[in-house]
Amino acid sequence: MANSQAVYTRFLSAERVADMIASAGLAPCLATLADYIAEDFRRWPDFEKSARTANHSPTGVIELMPIADARQYAFKYVNGHPQNHHQGLPTVMAFGVLADVGTGVPTLVSELTLTTALRTAAMSALAARTLARPDSRRMALIGNGAQSEFQALAFHHLMGITEFHLYDTDPAASAKLVANLARLGLQGQVFASTRDAVRGVDIITTVTADKTNATILTADMIEPGMHLNAVGGDCPGKTELHPDVLRLGQVFVEFEPQTRIEGDIQQMAADFPVTEFWQVLNGRAPGRTASTDITLFDSVGFALEDYSALRFLYDLAIRLKVDEGVSLIPALQDPKDLFGFLPLHGNGRVSGQRGTALVSAA
Ligand code: NAD
Repeated sequence: MANSQAVYTRFLSAERVADMIASAGLAPCLATLADYIAEDFRRWPDFEKSARTANHSPTGVIELMPIADARQYAFKYVNGHPQNHHQGLPTVMAFGVLADVGTGVPTLVSELTLTTALRTAAMSALAARTLARPDSRRMALIGNGAQSEFQALAFHHLMGITEFHLYDTDPAASAKLVANLARLGLQGQVFASTRDAVRGVDIITTVTADKTNATILTADMIEPGMHLNAVGGDCPGKTELHPDVLRLGQVFVEFEPQTRIEGDIQQMAADFPVTEFWQVLNGRAPGRTASTDITLFDSVGFALEDYSALRFLYDLAIRLKVDEGVSLIPALQDPKDLFGFLPLHGNGRVSGQRGTALVSAA
């Protein structure tokens, strides 16, 4: 029999992650996270990949996102419920697990709501750094909810964006974004419509939430040289772009089989041409070829970004000496004696009285 081993699972609560980000600094976190994501996308063939599993309801969706390489396995639980704010809840909530492939030991359980906003913004900015014009300075941000500050900050720190044109159907959301940007020394200008906000910018980020085929952008709003970062269309029946926008330029995606189901390209024929982003990162496919090209990142959020984010959190926790565990797995004297883990009280009444219901079944 092998020596018994206690299983240690590191635990990061939402409050703990917020403290870690505050102490490491938001800008360095976004930049490092983008580096982790780039590093993992460059080793794309190493990963066992699948489109996420989604359970839909009339009000939203709950999804499981697994991925693994030879060393580590990760999954994220995430929802999308655009009307949640009426109940005081966020649209998107998430947590995730990192595990050791060799033993199956869960090494980390972490909040991922805040981290999803960071990793989505880091991914968006990484895609833009690769695909947008390097001299881009102005970005329109359509949809000013929970994700928006993180998008603005990532584009500021990773792309050098200094001017933000804002629009949201909810003026209070835009006012919140302006106030939060001002606290960070950034200026956001609120416009009366999407059309007004996008005029003359270099990059357009759409990050709206509505469980419908919305038309946030139409082809006549798009100017030569623009890069589009379409984040909010991430579910069947939930899109942001008129199909003609997709025909204007080259479309880049994370994992094609998932984006065909969930992205804005769900509106297009199955053979509509797209390029997986990892190919551009690895120099296997061209990105932008001219300053007048229109490039479009049809973001849906792929499990690999959460794998990178969990890996980042794990390393940051070690660096910051954050060492809190959660007891998920029984610590056994003898790995074959799971039964011995039960604290029975020695009088032989092991199984209780048969037929006594502890709680009534519904
Ligand atoms: P949120 O509900 O906090 O904010 C969404 C905002 O969009 C709201 O303020 C709402 O008023 C606004 N809006 C809705 N319809 C609009 C319209 N027609 N024009 C302008 N504004 C409009 O949601 P969130 O957490 O910020 O998420 C935004 C979207 O991003 C969601 O759809 C979510 O599913 C998606 N998302 C995608 C990824 C990804 O990786 N691609 C990751 C996280 C979230």
